[in-house]
Amino acid sequence: MNHVVLDAGHGGKDPGAIGSFSKEKDIALAVTLKVRDILKRESPQLKTTLTRDSDFFVELKGRHAIANKANADLFVSIHINSTAGTTTRVQAGTKKVKKGKKWTTIPVYKTIHNRSTKTSGTETYVLGLTRNDQKEKAIGEYGETVAEEPGLLDENDPTTAILIAQYSQAFLSRSVTLGSKVQQNFAKAGRNNLGVKQKSLEVLAGSAMPGVLIELGFINNQEEEAYMNSEAGQQALANAIATAILDYKKEVEKK
Ligand SMILES: [Zn+2]
Repeated sequence: MNHVVLDAGHGGKDPGAIGSFSKEKDIALAVTLKVRDILKRESPQLKTTLTRDSDFFVELKGRHAIANKANADLFVSIHINSTAGTTTRVQAGTKKVKKGKKWTTIPVYKTIHNRSTKTSGTETYVLGLTRNDQKEKAIGEYGETVAEEPGLLDENDPTTAILIAQYSQAFLSRSVTLGSKVQQNFAKAGRNNLGVKQKSLEVLAGSAMPGVLIELGFINNQEEEAYMNSEAGQQALANAIATAILDYKKEVEKK
């Protein structure tokens, strides 16, 4: 393994999830840049490519296209979580209205949107099986990662189809390996570990390599928003991710 693509979620016109004073796109980029810096320092021979290195918009398809064209070995997407807010209607007072000739008192309601949450912690996604077809297609198209001789893969050839399916399975199991390491390192750093989960995600389905999507914490949790915006918090998060990537690298190179 010698090339990892780091994908800072959202960017430009797409802010991602919004907290009380910060945006997902900015935290994701800050942590991604720190992960890159740590990897460069700790493992200079490992090539890193970013899908964005400043505040601009990249389409989802553009993100895995970058990884596929770079012929990378690993795709790591970095995001921030958020929960849906709650809306409640509460009585805010009363008012007098005239009905016919009589005045009556009626209650007045107001709607309160509560965006904040007590939910906290980190979770890492690997590709759900519902997107397996797309994954296999990507592996077929960007066969360099699979075949010794690029361009020789034919999806319609049954032998190749089996080979591609095997790669798709192997990539999923490698993605779980990396995801577990990421979560373990978050837990070591004192974060609440919400585990490794499967989800149907375009950025993971379209890339012809193992990959994970990391949710660093909940932006609408006051404490986590402050942590993810702090220098120490970002450094701890980046350290956990970089350590997991380097540990994964060691493990796959042993095999
Ligand atoms: Zn996101």
